[in-house]
Amino acid sequence: MEENPETKTKLMNKGHTDLINEVVEGGLCVYCGACAGGCPYLTAYKGRIVVMDNCDREDGQCYQFCPRTFTDMDFLSNKFFGEPFGANEIGFSRNLLLAKAADARIHERGQDGGVVTALLTVAIEEGLIDAAIVAKMDEEKVPNGFVARTREQLLECARNSYEPCPTLQELNGLPYDSTEKLGIVSLPCHSAALSKMKAYKTRNRVNLENVNLIIGLFCGWTLAEGFHGYLQDNFDLKNIVKFDIPHSPGHTYDAYYKDGTKKEVELEDIRKYINPACDYCWDMTAEFSDVSVGSGRSKYKGWNTLIPRTGTGEKLVELAMEKGVLETKPLPEENIMNLKKACLNKKKSAVRKLSKKYNGDLGYLGISHTLKEKLLSD
Ligand SMILES: Cc1cc2nc3c(=O)[nH]c(=O)nc-3n(C[C@H](O)[C@H](O)[C@H](O)COP(=O)(O)OP(=O)(O)OC[C@H]3O[C@@H](n4cnc5c(N)ncnc54)[C@H](O)[C@@H]3O)c2cc1C
Ligand code: SF4
Ligand code: SF4
Repeated sequence: MEENPETKTKLMNKGHTDLINEVVEGGLCVYCGACAGGCPYLTAYKGRIVVMDNCDREDGQCYQFCPRTFTDMDFLSNKFFGEPFGANEIGFSRNLLLAKAADARIHERGQDGGVVTALLTVAIEEGLIDAAIVAKMDEEKVPNGFVARTREQLLECARNSYEPCPTLQELNGLPYDSTEKLGIVSLPCHSAALSKMKAYKTRNRVNLENVNLIIGLFCGWTLAEGFHGYLQDNFDLKNIVKFDIPHSPGHTYDAYYKDGTKKEVELEDIRKYINPACDYCWDMTAEFSDVSVGSGRSKYKGWNTLIPRTGTGEKLVELAMEKGVLETKPLPEENIMNLKKACLNKKKSAVRKLSKKYNGDLGYLGISHTLKEKLLSD
């Protein structure tokens, strides 16, 4: 599948300054880290992209790989799945499952069912990957990318931060000549950036052919600008062992402490910290991933929703089932319907908001005219 010449034109001759003007100043940045770590000019620091110095290069990889610069969805989808984008609300799937880690320690350490950590453990122990780039919270609970090579390190990095993690800065900072086979845990925006890196090929950075496994997390939004200060003011961060946002009918943001106590705040009180850039996000389930993982929702607490999407993802899930690492059952019809509805709503909302922001155009989101009209109707 050849790239559309129009896409090339939109991405060529643009670099650092355009990225800052269009994406960061334009209110679209999701702090994924794809623009940082590969050059001395940009760095991700405590939930912000910081300009260290100005770069006058006109064909920057920072611009090309950012998930919020023009993204030709059919081109990427054809590269990744061999078919154009958009026929299904939840993207390409080879199976739809409920799953949980069979190992009690992984299950207990995991956010929901521990499936992400369990899959990474199998992938490392069976030699499919040598290491996984995950999110690790420091003592103050600031998330950053981290290269985990052992089961213990994976367990340390389990559970959610609801702040954006610049995971891809860690990838970009790896030695160019590294031959380690990598897995990455990504939010949908990280997955979109990774698929651009794979499609357009990186220069002077680690070879993206080494990224053998992308595990995508479902995502509704992240809590950005000002939220960390709110956490510092309201919680004893050093002693927190888990954050959680229980699904409907829950209406709280919960923090669990080492001593077994829990502090809740009303979700309504923290909604003002949702990154406004997430309003323009079309993807609920990390569609450009080998396997996607979300919560099993209230009725299936302690379980994950699991979507193997590619041959790699399917083989890994089958291997984990064979080895008795995962317990699985088919995703109930009611969950499938709810998931499809949530995904479609997110796509419709993003397209409506982008169309409003860009006077009928969709800005970064390059989808076909037919799909755009379909998503804008009703
Ligand atoms: C910001 C955010 C929003 C989410 N929104 C939804 C939602 O709306 N609906 C839904 O069904 N599920 C959502 N999820 C996914 C869900 O909460 C669980 O992460 C998922 O079900 C995996 O559970 P697990 O038990 O397998 O995870 P674990 O085995 O605990 O593994 C979690 C993995 O995610 C990594 N990680 C943690 N925080 C981040 C982060 N901020 N960025 C990147 N990687 C991270 C960890 O390092 C770890 O490797 C969200 C997750 C996050 C981080
Ligand atoms: S690559 Fe990611 S962090 Fe950098 S500007 Fe784009 S969205 Fe922001
Ligand atoms: S809602 Fe979309 S843009 Fe925002 S953090 Fe989640 S995946 Fe990224």
